[in-house]
Amino acid sequence: MCGIIGIHGVRNAAPEVYQGLLLLQHRGQDAAGILSFDASTAQFHLHKDKGLVGQVFDKKNIGYLEGSSAIGHTRYATLAGKSADGQRDLQPMLVNYPHGLGLVHNGNVVNMDDLTALLRDKYHRIMLTKNDAETLLNMISTQLQENIHATPLEQLKFASEKIFDEAQGGYALIGLWANGFMFGLRDPHGIRPLVLGKRINDQGQVSHIMASESNVLNYLGYEFVRDLLPGELVAINEQGEVFSTHKNEPKEKSPCMFEWIYFATPESTMEGTPVYGARLNLGKKLGEKINKLIDDNSLEVDVVVPVPESGRIAAIALSETIKRPYRELLIKNRYIQRSFILQDQESRKSAVQMKLMVVGSEIKDKRVMIVDDSIVRGTTSRRLIETLREAGAKEVYFVSTCPPIKNPCYFGIDFPLKSELIAAHGDETSIADALGANRVIYQDLEGLKDALNQEGLCTGCITGKYPFDVSVAGQKFENNRKLSQGAR
Ligand code: AMP
Repeated sequence: MCGIIGIHGVRNAAPEVYQGLLLLQHRGQDAAGILSFDASTAQFHLHKDKGLVGQVFDKKNIGYLEGSSAIGHTRYATLAGKSADGQRDLQPMLVNYPHGLGLVHNGNVVNMDDLTALLRDKYHRIMLTKNDAETLLNMISTQLQENIHATPLEQLKFASEKIFDEAQGGYALIGLWANGFMFGLRDPHGIRPLVLGKRINDQGQVSHIMASESNVLNYLGYEFVRDLLPGELVAINEQGEVFSTHKNEPKEKSPCMFEWIYFATPESTMEGTPVYGARLNLGKKLGEKINKLIDDNSLEVDVVVPVPESGRIAAIALSETIKRPYRELLIKNRYIQRSFILQDQESRKSAVQMKLMVVGSEIKDKRVMIVDDSIVRGTTSRRLIETLREAGAKEVYFVSTCPPIKNPCYFGIDFPLKSELIAAHGDETSIADALGANRVIYQDLEGLKDALNQEGLCTGCITGKYPFDVSVAGQKFENNRKLSQGAR
């Protein structure tokens, strides 16, 4: 998962992109980068490095990133990104043939090995990385080259059709082209998010923004125009005119449910559903399920405790629904990295131990209901339950706002191999045993769908039914993942 942003038509785009990246930091903490284009000198300027946005950029290097348009990226490395120096995988990426073209990408292309082989065999294009962003960038630039005599807009249309037809996966892209165009596109199922915004300044000048999430638009003073449609290309020319084309046969829209569950920030709205509201609904739905258990006398709860930050909003609504007190008794050490970002199991475990401390005085002899957004491997929940028991909790119930995650995600969320998913091989009772909980309670699929209020959703990691057939490409993806884990 990554965060992407593009700003077009302002006096100096990079400082705004920088602020936008700070607001998208939650989508990736491994690396950050900005590419700007200065039409007055016909020059690109690029700065990218590993680290948090605030570590990668300073006043000086942002000062070099001149130009009225710029794109930016916050990186969360998933499968790709194991180049020798780790630098070549960073985004934005840039090619210079047949035109200067930069790209940022969020998501995952499942059949990228085949696409890369095609680029090599047909066009003699050799990639420097195993990163799908580079493959997509080269696919676009080969199409610009093949249609070199068409208008720029037609060239872009051909390029996006090629991507929509051939790249299987969940992806959102923003490109910057050295003729003044900025463009964005979203995969035919709309799995990964991308929004469009517009701002008119006091002098009547119009500028545009595209970003993974709407919180960026709010902060930077852009009016929200809309979510890009699945399979849509939006292109903005040097004069600020906006063009849009869609893929011919529309597919079923299937935005990733995990954006609302965990990834997106609560201030954002996606596909018309505010993230905060969705999380409240998730808590309410779970509360209704738990009320039935309380009414049956099969469960009693003294206190509802969120796992910060991701379980907090749902826990508030859950506690209101079951009419039991809400207490923040897990205290987060904000100076420790997110446990998921650490690469191996041992370091993940010690980080979990250190990052959440328990208020023992309020836990002792209580029947505690912990609420988290999801259970993936079970590392976080197992350790938390252990700590609560050590603090003297009488009973521990673990509640997940996401239904059981039983299948890998192939579209950009870092869900591991099926063998590593704790819910892949058991039911609620055996999972509770494995975690050391008195009981584990998951959201139902229906509850999830009601809470998110979307016509279509990608719930592949829950149901194993993906928006399109991933059996062949998915197997390859899993094999690659096994290989990359073996290599660590
Ligand atoms: P686990 O400890 O493996 O069960 O992971 C579950 C915890 O990790 C939950 O507390 C989530 O908030 C968090 N989480 C879930 N998915 C991701 C992800 N893709 N990246 C980072 N953190 C995640």
